[in-house]
Amino acid sequence: MKQRNVTLEASPTDKRHCAVVKTSLNNHHADHWKLRGGPGGLHVFNRTTGMNILCDEIPVPAVLWSCAPRQVSIALTNRCDLACAHCFAPKSRDELCYDAVTRWLVELDTNGTLGVGFGGGEPTLYPRFSELCRYAALETKLSVTFTTHGHYIDQAMADRLRGSVHFIRVSMDGIGDTYESIRQRSFPDLQARLKLIRGISGFGINIVVNERTMPELDKAAAVAADSGATELLLLPQVAVRSVRAVTDATVQALRRWVDEYSGPLKLCINESHADGFPTCDPLVEERGLRAYAHIDAAGVIKPTSYHATGVPIGAGRVLDALDQLANNVAEKDA
Ligand code: SF4
Repeated sequence: MKQRNVTLEASPTDKRHCAVVKTSLNNHHADHWKLRGGPGGLHVFNRTTGMNILCDEIPVPAVLWSCAPRQVSIALTNRCDLACAHCFAPKSRDELCYDAVTRWLVELDTNGTLGVGFGGGEPTLYPRFSELCRYAALETKLSVTFTTHGHYIDQAMADRLRGSVHFIRVSMDGIGDTYESIRQRSFPDLQARLKLIRGISGFGINIVVNERTMPELDKAAAVAADSGATELLLLPQVAVRSVRAVTDATVQALRRWVDEYSGPLKLCINESHADGFPTCDPLVEERGLRAYAHIDAAGVIKPTSYHATGVPIGAGRVLDALDQLANNVAEKDA
């Protein structure tokens, strides 16, 4: 049976083209590269191309390991005009202060974070969203990504975002009637938005996999590829409010589908559902809070967006809140 590797996602964020390459660095675009030290070696990242190179022959002393998580997702706002049943975002009015977010971005960038993923709620409803992306692109070396339902991206927003965003993730659960019954928005309208999104940056499609969307996965993958997407992020449904978690039978069907998929899209899956999938993770030594953290729309840092509790950052440093969070996690695990 053909074996297909699926990229492991700690979150719906940007970790494109992971590769383990033993190489010496000699690149005339050195200012486009960002370095990060960690237990696996020296990690070199280019946010423009999305290329990751792990120089695992270069041991990095622990005192020089980057302090900040490799990737951080930030829920800018909990506002959203849709009401998807599977949504796990809190239905509150929390929204982050622009100045706090820019301060955190600089701190994270300085301490080794490679990429930030904006989400929500719906991040395009954040009042200064384009300005924030532009700030992150110009004032930091972070890779800037965001996850969106896509329906607010018009030509004007696309023009504002172009050059400030490195990758976009668009939620598309199924196609046609299935999509419309879940999202309560027109599927042809989404397809029109995908044309605009394609003109901003590379993009991928996120699919919540459940008993309704699983049978349409072939068609959804074909629509995604035809629209210009390069990735398909598979998100097996988690239990939330009145919605049940995806069944074991559907997860089994998803595993078979992954094994048989021969299309052009890179397949990704979130870390919490990766068991039993043929995943490829070159950064196995960099797990937990070293790899990823989430900041919710109330300014609380957590291990993932699924966690209910964490540590408020307040007016202090992100790294101080992260230390406290690491202690809390260690105490809980002890
Ligand atoms: S579009 Fe996203 S944030 Fe909005 S309700 Fe649906 S899942 Fe939740």
